[in-house]
Order: sequence, then C-alpha cells, then structure tokens
Amino acid sequence: SEPLLEVRGLKTWFDTAGGPIRAVEGVDLSIARGETFALLGESGCGKSMTALSIMRLLPAAGRVVAGEVRLGARNLLALPEMAMRGVRGRQLAMIFQEPQSSLNPVLSVGTQIAETLRRRGKGSHERRVLDLLDAVGIPDPPRRAREYPHQLSGGMKQRVMIAIALAGEPELLIADEPTTALDVTIQAQVLALLRDLQRRTGMALLLITHDLGVVAEMADRVAVMYAGHVVEQAPATAFFAQPAHPYSRKLFASLPNLGKRATRLAVIRGSVPSLAHEFKACRFEARCDYAWSACRETLPRWLEHEPGRRVRCHLYDPAQAGESLTDRDFV
Ligand code: SF4
Ligand code: MG
Repeated sequence: SEPLLEVRGLKTWFDTAGGPIRAVEGVDLSIARGETFALLGESGCGKSMTALSIMRLLPAAGRVVAGEVRLGARNLLALPEMAMRGVRGRQLAMIFQEPQSSLNPVLSVGTQIAETLRRRGKGSHERRVLDLLDAVGIPDPPRRAREYPHQLSGGMKQRVMIAIALAGEPELLIADEPTTALDVTIQAQVLALLRDLQRRTGMALLLITHDLGVVAEMADRVAVMYAGHVVEQAPATAFFAQPAHPYSRKLFASLPNLGKRATRLAVIRGSVPSLAHEFKACRFEARCDYAWSACRETLPRWLEHEPGRRVRCHLYDPAQAGESLTDRDFV
C-alpha cells in the first residue's frame, strides 16, 4: 500500500566557517500508516537532522540541499512555509528529548494545550484540554491543567508534550529520544503510553533512538543510520533475528545484555569519519572487520538483499563481493 511518508535522497548540510558538514547524505525511508518505525544510531549520525528536515525545523545553519519528503501527493520540502505550518501539528507532530525546552514556563499547562487546540483549528474547549491530559495518563486533570511546567516532574512534562502533539490529531508523531532524559521506570511508562496512544488513534510513530532495547520493545520496522547514511532497513523481527550490516552486528555485539532495559549503544573501536567531505568509499570501512579493497574504492549501493530488507554494504552486492560472498562466511 501507499506509504504515509516517504523520504527520498535527503541531503542536509550545515554551513560552517570551514565549509559544509554533510550531516545527512542521501537518506531514503518510507513509513506506513499506523506503524512504529525506529531510526537507530549513535549520537551525531544524522537521526535528529533527518527528523528536523522532515518537519522543516532545521536550525539556521542547516539546509536541505537535495531530496524529497512526500506526504501523500505533496513534497513537503517544496511547500510554502504557510502551508507547512498547517502540516506541522495537524499531520506531523514532533516531541523532543527535553520537554521543558518546548514548554512555555509562564503559561499554565491547560492554557498551552488550549492554545495549541485553537491553533490547530480544533476549538479550545476546556473539556477537550482535560480529555487530552487524561489520554496521556495525567492524574487529576483539572488540577494539573492549572499548574505551570516547573511544578511537573520530567515524566509529567513529557506527557504534557505528548498531549500537545496529539492536539492536532497527527497522522505521524516523530519522537526524538523521547525517554532518554527520564529514569528507567518513567521511560517504560512513557513508551507504554506511546504504544497505547498509537493503538487507540492509529497514528504512525517515527521513533528516534540510540537504544536497541527501545527498538526491540517498540518497533515494527527499523532503519540504522551511520555517519549520515541509512545503512540498513528491515522489519524489526528479521533485524533482531539477524542484523545484516556489519555496523548493526557491532551494535548487537557491544550490548552487555540485550533485553535489559536502558541498554545504551556502547562505543565501537575506531572513530566516526568526518562529514566535511564527500565520501568515495564505505563510511564504515575504518571500523569494519570485513573491509577489503572494494570498500576503500567504491561507495556501497542501497540494495534490496531480501524482500523488504535493504542494506548498504558490498558484502551483499554480487557485483562487488562475487565469489567472496561465500568465502567470507558472512551472509
Ligand atoms: Fe564493511 Fe565493506 Fe560492508 Fe563497508 S562495504 S560495511 S567496509 S564490508
Ligand atoms: Mg539527536
């Protein structure tokens, strides 16, 4: 079926005094209606910049230099800002790691939700404000609606942010590390809330995370990002049964105990390449145990190596790996 949101060939660069930093360098993603799609990767790999490009909320130094973001028949990157404002909130909404940075400290929670409802054209009735607070599991909504952000715990603030995001009944909620700043128990509660809301509303969720445990718990499909590229995309069950890309395999190997909550991605030997120049070779080459001459000479293609699974690695490319595919005893 037709995807809800499709990102094609997205490139987002940051202008610096020393030239552009190529933060996102050709990202392709497609998100289906109602699904949870996890974008997994270490910090600085371009996950947040991908999300901010989709929302068109990039910081001033950032610019999209190529690509499309298709929502239905429209390319969001080509919309006038006024039209994009209508899309933001009503079709796409986003929540961030630090909820306090998005809440207004001088307005009560109820006022902020009412204001959002009004802006989204949903009518700012008090009943609806209380219903939203109730929907995100905030006890005693009438009392909480009168409180200010500083009176709420981190978990409660994140719930308020989710209520604000839901005000416009979005088709896709983008959640950028929504539980990273919270302690483990509260993390689990917020994730359970997101799952529950998704079931009730049918919205899709683009979950951005560096936490493989969160992906295991939440995702229908997963894309792995490395140094500005998506290197693998797969259904979550297939991915957890056997990750394809050498980088994905390292992420698993680095986990002390998958299945334990709050499993953070451990450090992998070697450093992430600089994003200041164009790549002529595989970005993972310096850290990859399987690298051979081809990896230093050519960029890997974005291949469908199994139905519904894609990978960017020469090991899966018959044109590159040839006989060595079996020799390497990898696939
Ligand atoms: Fe490793 Fe080569 Fe695959 Fe890159 S292309 S991940 S270096 S095997
Ligand atoms: Mg980030």
